[in-house]
Amino acid sequence: MSIPIERTTSARLDAPMVASHDLTNVPADHMFMAEYANGEWKSARIHKYQPIPMAPLALGLHYAQIVFEGMKAYKMQGDKIGVFRTGRHHERFNRSLVRMCMPEVPLQLFADAIHTLVDVDKDWVPPGPDAAYYIRPFVIASEERMGLKSADEFLFMVVGGPFRPLYQKPLRVKVERVYTRAAHGGTGFAKCAGNYAAAMYPTKLAQQEGFDQVIWTDARDHAFVEESGTMNLAFVINGAVVTPPVSDTILDGVTRDTMLTIARDLGLQVEERPVSVEELHAGLKSGTVTEAFGVGTAASIAPIQTISVDGEDLHLSISPDKMMFTLKKHLDDIRYGIIPDEKGWMNIIGGVAT
Ligand SMILES: *Cc1c(COP(=O)(O)O)cnc(C)c1O
Repeated sequence: MSIPIERTTSARLDAPMVASHDLTNVPADHMFMAEYANGEWKSARIHKYQPIPMAPLALGLHYAQIVFEGMKAYKMQGDKIGVFRTGRHHERFNRSLVRMCMPEVPLQLFADAIHTLVDVDKDWVPPGPDAAYYIRPFVIASEERMGLKSADEFLFMVVGGPFRPLYQKPLRVKVERVYTRAAHGGTGFAKCAGNYAAAMYPTKLAQQEGFDQVIWTDARDHAFVEESGTMNLAFVINGAVVTPPVSDTILDGVTRDTMLTIARDLGLQVEERPVSVEELHAGLKSGTVTEAFGVGTAASIAPIQTISVDGEDLHLSISPDKMMFTLKKHLDDIRYGIIPDEKGWMNIIGGVAT
């Protein structure tokens, strides 16, 4: 499919971004847009980044029929640009859309939208280490309607921009024993907007107590750990990489899946199994839990230094020999094209579509 492109007449870059560029964490010049009506996606196009027309009574604005993804494009060695695991993000996008009663986006449309936008904005892809072009595909119910119903009209958009994480301190997190992110039968596995609005208040309370994030626990008993903020959660326990299994309450992270694949390929022992707060607490005290980290597209792998369990702060060492840094290096080396991409995770822009 070839998507019509109307380039901006006021481009803000005249050469590819360099590492020291001060334009960062801002939208790039262009965006993708398509509309859904009468049962089909149509009018796919790329034009300048601009506000979108939206009726005040658009259903998405009131009832949160909104689904999104978060992905990244990397500047690879040899000046290639690669989008990480488009296919896997697409599968999750459609799972989220189905759960929210929204129309699926075909793989071809999703991949073409993203890969063409990144090609148009390729000067905006910053070089590593750590920097990347963040990609935000999303669908919102745009039908104008007084009263609750599932919409019949939607907008599919993709926006993006250079993203460079600030120096990140190791995290201080608190095991959340009161509030709930996701319950069985709910929407925790979906990247739907309402999940994030509902997480803000408990996160704010934790931040007022001096923590960066909460560790969410199961909704029924608050006895098993699930995720940390908007990242999956992993530990090293007795030398094995341990992470709770994905479920309808634990989001199936692309970074999590990638990290586990790399860990297995490196010959590390991997365990996907429930981790109770009790096991975590005892293991932090006895020293069998030696690492804890968050795993997600935004931060890649985020070291956790302090975990608070029912008011008791327990600390971990963040020395450079920790397994999480080996895993992060392999992940980054594939993304930035420093080691071969044997799994076909990188979609090279301008190359053969995958
Ligand atoms: C996006 C997200 C993750 C991480 O998923 P990635 O695909 O690795 O970015 C984990 N948990 C939640 C709740 C998320 O929204």
